[in-house]
Amino acid sequence: MVEYKCFKCGQNIDSKDLDKRFVCPNCGSKIFFKPRVKVKTVKTD
Ligand SMILES: [Zn+2]
Repeated sequence: MVEYKCFKCGQNIDSKDLDKRFVCPNCGSKIFFKPRVKVKTVKTD
């Protein structure tokens, strides 16, 4: 399950809620980001 976060109001939105239309149900913003971002750290020895 992927959870997005509204960039404008900070509302957490399930990805399945964005399947129909990619807008925030709270404020109508269309800008989202993923709160949990897997960052790959590359070690260079
Ligand atoms: Zn919003």
